[in-house]
Amino acid sequence: MAKIFCVANQKGGVGKTTTAVNLAAGLAQLNQRVLLVDLDPQGNATMGAGINKAELQSSIYEVLLGMADVATARVRSETGKFDVLPANRELAGAEVEMVELDNREKRLKDALGVVDAEYDFMLIDCPPALSMLTLNGLCAAHGVIIPMQCEYYALEGLSDLVNTIKKVHAKLNTDLKIIGLLRVMFDPRMTLSQQVSSQLEQHFGDKVFKTIIPRNVRLAEAPSYGMPGINFDPSSKGAQAYLAFGAEMVERIKTI
Ligand code: ADP
Ligand code: MG
Repeated sequence: MAKIFCVANQKGGVGKTTTAVNLAAGLAQLNQRVLLVDLDPQGNATMGAGINKAELQSSIYEVLLGMADVATARVRSETGKFDVLPANRELAGAEVEMVELDNREKRLKDALGVVDAEYDFMLIDCPPALSMLTLNGLCAAHGVIIPMQCEYYALEGLSDLVNTIKKVHAKLNTDLKIIGLLRVMFDPRMTLSQQVSSQLEQHFGDKVFKTIIPRNVRLAEAPSYGMPGINFDPSSKGAQAYLAFGAEMVERIKTI
């Protein structure tokens, strides 16, 4: 059975997509069978995995509306060595169109269930909102990975996400838990980063992943080459950190 994780944070630009794409590539290097699910109409995870979102035969949009199944819509990331359930702008319409459907918050869960046996991990890249799409991600998942920058405002908004996760846990998905907080874009030269980082450790204990992802320009450059950072420059500090994070996840799922 696949372990399914959302990469979520309702803030934009905090490193969700970079984390989802590079964790997918890192897990693939560790011989895990991975499906990366792009749940953001921006389609950044799709592009970052090297798939042209403008040339999709079908996408997660059709899957959510019951017009295609995952096996038809998925595409292989040849560089990343993982499968992608791709997204493009059409997905924005699903939000409205799903309102009329039965079981609307469980549509992704039901669709992923069909290919469950084919993967060790499914990683869902969520949009920057606590929307119906994100709700579908949370209902489908066993856990949530929350990427955070160690800056003054990082903790602001975290309680909204934590409350949403608690509500989903109580009402819709009793499996759901916070797997961990991942410190990303970390700059060790900044005193503030160090301070926020140790606050996080004090507050959340072992819910904070040991791996810290540094700010690294190679990770930011990789998407324009249609490659995960891990494959684009394997020796870079960012790639090394995401590979270490993949190994930490493989260990961590043994205990959840
Ligand atoms: P989100 O999906 O939360 O909106 P992204 O993963 O798209 O965030 O990241 C936002 C921006 O920051 C992107 O331009 C990305 O390339 C860059 N970025 C993400 N992580 C890093 C990092 N560790 N080092 C440098 N740049 C990063
Ligand atoms: Mg994103």
